[in-house]
Amino acid sequence: MALSIEEMAVFCKKKGFVYPSSEIYGGFSGFFDYGHLGVELKNNIKARWWKAFVQQREDIVGIDGSIITHPSVWKASGHLDGFADVMVECRKCGSRFRADQLIEDKLRIPTAGMTIGGMHAEIKENKIKCQKCGSDLGEPKKFNLMFATNVGPVQTSSSAAYLRPETAQVIFANFKLVQENARLKLPFGIAQIGKAFRNEISPRDFLFRMREFEQMEIEYFVHPEKQDECIFINEVLDYELNVLSADMQKNSKKMQKMKIKECLNKKIIKTKWHAYWLAMAHKWFVELGANAENFRIRQHVKDELSHYALDTWDLEYEFPFGWKELQGLSNRTDFDLKQHMQHSKTDLSIFDEESKKKILPHVICEPSQGVDRAFLVFMFDAYSYDKERGNVVLRLHPKLAPVKVGIFSLVNKLDEEARKVYDSLKKEFACTFDRSGSIGRRYARADEIGIPYCVTIDFDTLKNKDVTIRDRDTTEQIRVKIDDLKKTMSKLTNSEIEFGKAGKSIK
Ligand SMILES: [Zn+2]
Repeated sequence: MALSIEEMAVFCKKKGFVYPSSEIYGGFSGFFDYGHLGVELKNNIKARWWKAFVQQREDIVGIDGSIITHPSVWKASGHLDGFADVMVECRKCGSRFRADQLIEDKLRIPTAGMTIGGMHAEIKENKIKCQKCGSDLGEPKKFNLMFATNVGPVQTSSSAAYLRPETAQVIFANFKLVQENARLKLPFGIAQIGKAFRNEISPRDFLFRMREFEQMEIEYFVHPEKQDECIFINEVLDYELNVLSADMQKNSKKMQKMKIKECLNKKIIKTKWHAYWLAMAHKWFVELGANAENFRIRQHVKDELSHYALDTWDLEYEFPFGWKELQGLSNRTDFDLKQHMQHSKTDLSIFDEESKKKILPHVICEPSQGVDRAFLVFMFDAYSYDKERGNVVLRLHPKLAPVKVGIFSLVNKLDEEARKVYDSLKKEFACTFDRSGSIGRRYARADEIGIPYCVTIDFDTLKNKDVTIRDRDTTEQIRVKIDDLKKTMSKLTNSEIEFGKAGKSIK
């Protein structure tokens, strides 16, 4: 049985992954705090992403920009004037709702691309009322989603500043400095992981739509005349994923499993770079243990495209509340750099050695991923209830698991020996030393928080200087010498060896 989002929130709280923020004060809508296991999982997700997309690539470097930036950044980007959702207010009780969500919930129709007038008409014609008190709703109006604050001691209109609603603009504002100092040559990317803030009218679905969240984002720049020369395309041509194009949506067709080369040959995905990044985004999840069947790539239909985008594809995941966006991959062209050039009066173009001309690069793709959404995906795909064991087994990939090794002593008498093992392993792995309850109980507790390997110290340990390792997913057990334990654990947690081959199997 699949878990609902509410049940996942309960599980996350009970096990110490995520808490409603300021819960002692009744919680704070749209804000969540990560607990002792949640912070480890979240850090592992970010570290894996950084490793895959920054440290292991020659063409991408990272930055860490400030959360509050010069307000002109948001003027230039268009956020100040246009970053808004449509809101309706109850005439009687003053409750506010997001118009598109209200229409989608009540009428079960898509609202992508619907104008304010269109929304107003739908609400009127279908007599949609306030969800709190049932009274009439006012006219829909735009509501800017940026959190405003004041910088400095005096509050004036000129001291207004904003918490960044996305990490992308901080990359564009630093584009020239990073390109010069890191001596980047096209094509190249600049990445950033960091918090972003959106004053959502109605935050919902646990970590899915929050007011404070975290992004992992790349802006990938190419030569304007070489937009289709993807140097890495061969790596992904045979990669297969579920595809739902704009045409397929228009003709009410179902998603289809396709290879990247087929998408390109049939011109379903317009550019090779876009195809490459879609595959890479998908692959990252799957390689960290997510189930490929729960993902699809979906092209934005015409009305859905953002003001800056030429073509956008979302990487989507099938949540219990439907297919939802995990990552928006848009082709932003040179829109942002152009805007910042105009507003800052700074030349952001770069010198092209080949043509000996100054050029303004295009953002061919912007893989932008919510950390918290990735967290949810990994939790949903890992969660399973094992009837035979009678407990939850959280099958997180060992690379992501918050705790890699649980160390148990069979009886208290062996604690000293077990602590020695714990002390040597904790230098390299996140470990726990659990002494309470039966071994079965301790295994169950470890399963529930996703510890992939448990090491038990028993009386044979004293004699033979070896320990038992138990695999979370199969409950298979092997015997390994204490001297080899660190090495074996390293291979296991990096999935470099099959469990059964890592030691002497015990039946
Ligand atoms: Zn009302």
